[in-house]
Amino acid sequence: MSNQKVDCIIIGAGMSGLAAGIRLSMYNKKVLILEKHSISGGLNSYYARGKRKFDVGLHALTNFVSPSDRGKPFNKLMKQLRIPYEEFKLSQQNYSLIQFPEKTLKFTNEINVLTEEISRNFPHEVDGFIRLLEHIRNFDEVNLNNETVMAKVVVGNFIKEKSLVEMIFCPLLIYGSAWENDMDFSQFVIMFKSIFLEGFSRPEGGVRTILDLLLKRLKVNGGELKYRAEVTRIISHNGKIFGVEINHNEIIECDQVLSSMGLPETYGVVSEFEELKKPQTGNLSFCESILVTDKKPRDLGIDATIIFYNNRPEYLYQKPKTLFDTESAVVCFPNNFKYDSFEDDYSEGVLRVTNIANFELWNELKSSEDSYLYREQKENVFLNAQKILKSCGLKSEYNVNFKDIFTPTTIKRYTQHFDGTVYGSTDKSRNGTTPIHGLYICGTDQGFLGIVGSMLSGISMANLHVLQGDLK
Ligand SMILES: Cc1cc2nc3c(=O)[nH]c(=O)nc-3n(C[C@H](O)[C@H](O)[C@H](O)COP(=O)(O)OP(=O)(O)OC[C@H]3O[C@@H](n4cnc5c(N)ncnc54)[C@H](O)[C@@H]3O)c2cc1C
Repeated sequence: MSNQKVDCIIIGAGMSGLAAGIRLSMYNKKVLILEKHSISGGLNSYYARGKRKFDVGLHALTNFVSPSDRGKPFNKLMKQLRIPYEEFKLSQQNYSLIQFPEKTLKFTNEINVLTEEISRNFPHEVDGFIRLLEHIRNFDEVNLNNETVMAKVVVGNFIKEKSLVEMIFCPLLIYGSAWENDMDFSQFVIMFKSIFLEGFSRPEGGVRTILDLLLKRLKVNGGELKYRAEVTRIISHNGKIFGVEINHNEIIECDQVLSSMGLPETYGVVSEFEELKKPQTGNLSFCESILVTDKKPRDLGIDATIIFYNNRPEYLYQKPKTLFDTESAVVCFPNNFKYDSFEDDYSEGVLRVTNIANFELWNELKSSEDSYLYREQKENVFLNAQKILKSCGLKSEYNVNFKDIFTPTTIKRYTQHFDGTVYGSTDKSRNGTTPIHGLYICGTDQGFLGIVGSMLSGISMANLHVLQGDLK
């Protein structure tokens, strides 16, 4: 039964869906965001345990820029959303490390620091690195006509030392590649600019600050958001969008649908086009240990904000054959940003260790009769996290006041992404189109990911496919 008609339905109240909703409601479109869960944020949400609040996704916001740097992605984003830069109350990282067995490289939001580190650790490669920087700076990574070229081939033209190539790729792969061990060069440049040339920061209050700003903006514009509204069917007639079914019973008509569910997940609920090519489900998921400690990391000998830890000569960015990769991790210390006041907004120490994980193996455990096995393996993740923290230099004189461990099955449960994948399918829809007229993809599977990337995706897909007429 159809009882409502809107201009545009957006599926998902993650970063991309909220940004698209704000943009469309700004131009007086009747917009309805449908979110399966009872809170917003998707992969970048938050939860509370007692008095403690935790971010799920956010380690750091990439693409840090000063407010005056107008042409840069973050400032463009804020302009499009009409959110003043100051409201994010950003604090920059102290510094980050890429820690491999033989060498460690430090980087900050100033690229010179990384260049100097390379000059000291790999003196024969620094000229090649400077030429690579030049090439990256001049490259138009968002041009939709760019050919797909594997990044390791291109970088190999500038840098010969394999271990340096592995070290440079490590943060860029784990913070945004749906592909194993390599990525398309355009994606590499997006990641390189956002992490090494622009850098990391954190909003005061974490991800809630971003979500509160987005929700406030959506409300001011008159955009509508409905929670506990799972899209169970996307309905089209003769290849043209008609509307969606929610919670298996209610039908809402619309002219356009922007879906941030993911490409395979979207096609999975399309009513027409049974023959739609099934896009690949990505292989990469994570587990994470969150430790709340009685001492802060700086009192335990660590000032770094993020450590990209790898205990092999090569960096294996791929689905592990075991439950999780014990030899590599991203280790994040949210207390260690350059907060204005000396104190950060946590009263305790917070340590986060994220490992690449195998969804199928965790899912088998979770589905088995014996829930003890699942809990036991989660405990192993935690014990391994403590081992990694020690290898990163954390002194062991701390007590764990609270701990929480999430696995790929948790990610699937809260985001619906097939196989708990975080960076989506390896099949992307770069221009957001699908075979159904009026159905578009935004967010991770349009190709831009991370917090800033997915918001940019929501805005650009809204501009390109729904607002073309209004923007002329
Ligand atoms: C552990 C972890 C750490 C991360 N760290 C960082 C970081 O430090 N910095 C950074 O920039 N990025 C980070 N990310 C990545 C970032 O979170 C994502 O790239 C980004 O949030 C993706 O946003 P999205 O809108 O594309 O998709 P999603 O966040 O997946 O949003 C999709 C939304 O759609 C909803 N949905 C799905 N199916 C339906 C349905 N049928 N009906 C209705 N609603 C539905 C989901 O519930 C969800 O809310 C991290 C992610 C994880 C998991």
